[in-house]
Amino acid sequence: MSHLTPANIDWSDPAAPLSTQFGDFYFSKKNGAAETEYVFLHHNHLPGRWQQHQQSLFTVAETGFGTGLNFFVLWRHFQQFRRQHPSAACQRLHFVSVEKYPLNVDDLRRAHGQWPEFADLAMQLRQHYPPATQGCHRLLLDNGQIVLDLWFGDVLDTLPQMDAGRNGVVDAWFLDGFTPRKNPQMWQPALYQHMVRLSRPGGSFATFTAASDVRRGLQAAGYQVKKAKGFMGKREMIYGTLPMDSDAADSDARSRELEPVSIVGGGMAAASTALALCRRGVQVDLYCADDAPAQGASGSRQGALYPLLNAGGDALSQFYSQAFPLARQSLLQLAEQHTIHHGLSGVLQLPVDDRSRDKIRKLAGSGLPSELVQGVSAKQGSELAGVPIDRDGVYYPQGAWICPKDLTLAMLAEAERTGLLSCHYQHPLQALHCDQGRWLLDFGHRTAHAPQVVLAMGASSAGLAATAPLQLNPVRGQTSYPEAQDDTAKLQTVLCADGYLVPSMDGRLTCGASFVRGDDNTDWREADRDEIRQRMTRSFGALAWHTQLELDDSGRAAVRATVRDHLPLAGPVLDWDNTQDGMTPAQTRCQPGLYLLSGLGSRGLCSASLCAELLASQLLEEPRPLSGDQQARLAPGRFWLRRLAKGQPLLHG
Ligand code: SAM
Repeated sequence: MSHLTPANIDWSDPAAPLSTQFGDFYFSKKNGAAETEYVFLHHNHLPGRWQQHQQSLFTVAETGFGTGLNFFVLWRHFQQFRRQHPSAACQRLHFVSVEKYPLNVDDLRRAHGQWPEFADLAMQLRQHYPPATQGCHRLLLDNGQIVLDLWFGDVLDTLPQMDAGRNGVVDAWFLDGFTPRKNPQMWQPALYQHMVRLSRPGGSFATFTAASDVRRGLQAAGYQVKKAKGFMGKREMIYGTLPMDSDAADSDARSRELEPVSIVGGGMAAASTALALCRRGVQVDLYCADDAPAQGASGSRQGALYPLLNAGGDALSQFYSQAFPLARQSLLQLAEQHTIHHGLSGVLQLPVDDRSRDKIRKLAGSGLPSELVQGVSAKQGSELAGVPIDRDGVYYPQGAWICPKDLTLAMLAEAERTGLLSCHYQHPLQALHCDQGRWLLDFGHRTAHAPQVVLAMGASSAGLAATAPLQLNPVRGQTSYPEAQDDTAKLQTVLCADGYLVPSMDGRLTCGASFVRGDDNTDWREADRDEIRQRMTRSFGALAWHTQLELDDSGRAAVRATVRDHLPLAGPVLDWDNTQDGMTPAQTRCQPGLYLLSGLGSRGLCSASLCAELLASQLLEEPRPLSGDQQARLAPGRFWLRRLAKGQPLLHG
């Protein structure tokens, strides 16, 4: 994860922010919104095209998000279109935008002050605007009907990472960015080639410039390019389309998009996937072995939400820095409509030995955005925590504690509001077979058919013939609920050290957790309580308030599904039977219509929403919220594929 440079803006003229990096203005001082309408909407034939669009999703991609003006204009027009044509096939808008120098929220607010007509939209954007880290940040706006993917990074590095799916994902491009004269590095043939690669057949583009290099580059990449008059007397502009391919490919994508999906599971992985699919208009049947949802690891009383980061910015850190803002956004949005016990408390992480001290020190100095993580002294930590703290640490200011059970129920309730979710409890899946392109789900007392299945059953996800080679490990974890006493009742932030301690909810704190590898028993055990006690002593034993953590026999045990590289398993399931030694990864296939979301470990609060969005995007051939490499890192068959890539024999059994 390399570092980003923030936008540097000269505000000498408050109505015309000037980029000092490019020496050019972000938008036209007069009629900025009218120029967007003319150049980008009108010449991509919007909103007219939405009426003929046969798919439920229309996707626009942009180079250079800047202040978001183009996005607001498009979003407003889409709202109007939806009001005027409520029964049109096109129901949702996806806006993918790349930004090399992200603006900070204060600069956004200043710029947005110019457009009172978009104040409501701009506020939604700023409320959920992500910390400036590399990669895709997904925002779900207007109840998920508007999706914004903000990719932070240079367009020429970023577009190659985007997955074009089977048949392209972009319907129209807004080719923005400062003029070729001021920003020649961006206007390169590689940009036009990736626009074509990512576009659906018949996809369009529009841009404010008519520079001959740009026109020729777009033509060479495959666009039919036309010239038009520039906006209000400006020089010429260009726009164009790609040729339409055979109808067959397009109708294939169309017929796939609304096929029903069966989800097996009843925890956060299942609930977040159900919500992501129902929001997309997909009919979902959810089959749960228990008689109510959230009976396993997602049924805990309190859990901590914070990103797993490290100073090296490796794949783990990269994934969690993208997952965390979306998880927080989901919490805030769901909590507006549903009862979810939670506290926006921040999370304070403290070292317990030399190794963790070194890691925390490096993280504090890593240069990651301070909204994400910041170093704090013992004194600052004590103020944040509301109880004395004796060590320096790191603080995640946007961290929170949540009742995972409430969150799971809220996700299901929200999915049910669409009228597309049917939940079937007491349906333990006994067997799963592929029968002439459809999946047959055998629940013992009844069977069901589904064209597409998502397995989200925690550690039991590996218990079927179709999933047996998955490398999922059960880890038993028990928590304790000590009563809040004089000092511990004052705890205001989650503390993480060797185990964690969550501030009081209804008079009891939560601390944990024991960690027993390979054990899937869920009985409450004294031995686990003793383990938690030791963890609390190791973490906070030198602090006087620690004596108030009296662990009684309250608590709960559950099993987490873990993966040895600490990343979830999310995506289509490899066709293990037809994967053989000597193949290359590119020669392998997945089992058609079979997907998996498991291995969330004890980080499901952070990772579930992003993984669910990923699965929904894969199932419906929409823009993915993760790069191609990241999808490969989460792929359920990755350990086999890595062996094949290295020419090593597969390990069966
Ligand atoms: N579309 C924006 C709006 O609606 O406010 C205005 C965009 S402004 C004219 C151009 C933007 O392109 C700037 O924010 C700039 O940082 C960004 N940009 C320029 N070169 C880029 C590159 N190579 N990769 C990504 N973004 C780039």
